[in-house]
Amino acid sequence: MIKAVRGTRDLLPPDTALWNFVENKAREVFARYNYQEIRTPVFESTELFERGVGEETDIVSKEMFTWEDKARAASEKSLSLTLRPENTAGVVRAYIEHNLEKSGLLQKLYYLGPQFRRERPQKGRYRQFYQIGAEIIGPPSAGSELPIRDAEVLDMLVALLDAVGLTGWTLFLNSVGCSNCRPAYNQALREALAAVKDQMCADCRRRAETNPLRVLDCKVVEDQPIIEALPKIADYLDEPCREHFAQVKAMLDELGVPYQVNERMVRGLDYYTRTTFEFTHGELGAQSAVLGGGRFDGLSEELGGPRAPGIGFAIGEDRLVLALQAQQKKAESALQALIVPLGKEMNRHALKLAKELREAGVAVDVSDESFRLKKSFETAEKLGATYAVLVGENEMASGEFAVKNLESGEQTKVARAGLLKYLSADGI
Ligand code: AMP
Repeated sequence: MIKAVRGTRDLLPPDTALWNFVENKAREVFARYNYQEIRTPVFESTELFERGVGEETDIVSKEMFTWEDKARAASEKSLSLTLRPENTAGVVRAYIEHNLEKSGLLQKLYYLGPQFRRERPQKGRYRQFYQIGAEIIGPPSAGSELPIRDAEVLDMLVALLDAVGLTGWTLFLNSVGCSNCRPAYNQALREALAAVKDQMCADCRRRAETNPLRVLDCKVVEDQPIIEALPKIADYLDEPCREHFAQVKAMLDELGVPYQVNERMVRGLDYYTRTTFEFTHGELGAQSAVLGGGRFDGLSEELGGPRAPGIGFAIGEDRLVLALQAQQKKAESALQALIVPLGKEMNRHALKLAKELREAGVAVDVSDESFRLKKSFETAEKLGATYAVLVGENEMASGEFAVKNLESGEQTKVARAGLLKYLSADGI
């Protein structure tokens, strides 16, 4: 049987209805903010992404689908082509190619479509995935650099998430400085890393030389204390960047948009300057970023175009749909936990625990007698439970229960006394 290639998937009804709903809402919100649609090709010259996204990024150095396209006629040259891993570089290329700066106005452009990255597939991470994104770009004389643009984009994103009904997101915000102040920060990072990089993971050791900013992105647990102690970007922003960031934050406060400043959020693409942001959602597990974006004030010039600062974002549509589905499932089911006895002897303990939790007002159910972990987790998910609580001999002896969060897949140990609070507070 021929199957869909690893990392790709079919979207089938009824799920496609939710995809259409999200796309229609996005178009509606974009129209309210005066954005118009742009469609760029699905493949471009490899050079566009090398120069735009950056050769040292994970995307360009290891995740692109690139091939050598042979000439078919004397009039054609062979070319290195790449399936687009993201759409901002394509939009800026089109802006330059069609002289869109001529109007003197800001261009407010949105796109929807597939993107391609050869990443390790997992829940929420695919090799063909879909982004809904938008960019504001234009000459500085049209106000493209002003903090009001940043605040407006973030305000629009909140409106879009509201329109599709997503709740429970967190907005992380940072400023990564500009070509004037970033070199000093890079230098400070390099120097600080020189002393500690030997204790870090292989990726960090390499990045410490090539692209030190990327070290801040590292997720390896052992590296975290080292990274926490590195110099902070906020201490290196020059006065205009500091002022720009302060104004963005002040406008967000005025608009009532909640955010958390996260100085380690540097994002995976080299073109970002000044404001960067990410919205995360708790229902998504390890791949928690629903969308990301930021300023790209130097990208047009990097690609040989005019000075055209801008800011934009890309929503991971696959993840937005996953988060909405999880939210809906939760709303439909009041069941907090499935109590899972791990053997006949444990039935009475499981039932007793269930009784205590029910008396305290928590909706729980007790698993069947198969005593198989995998099956119990599947049942818990089918029932729409948020957690599975294991009741085995070890648990009874230690007084600590293994609790699995079925959405994130994480498993923790919770003492009996803390169990009620843990389950009813959603584990937060
Ligand atoms: P980026 O273009 O890397 O800034 O990513 C923007 C958003 O696209 C992320 O926040 C994710 O929601 C989504 N995204 C990026 N890579 C993938 C992938 N491989 N699979 C699914 N979604 C992705």
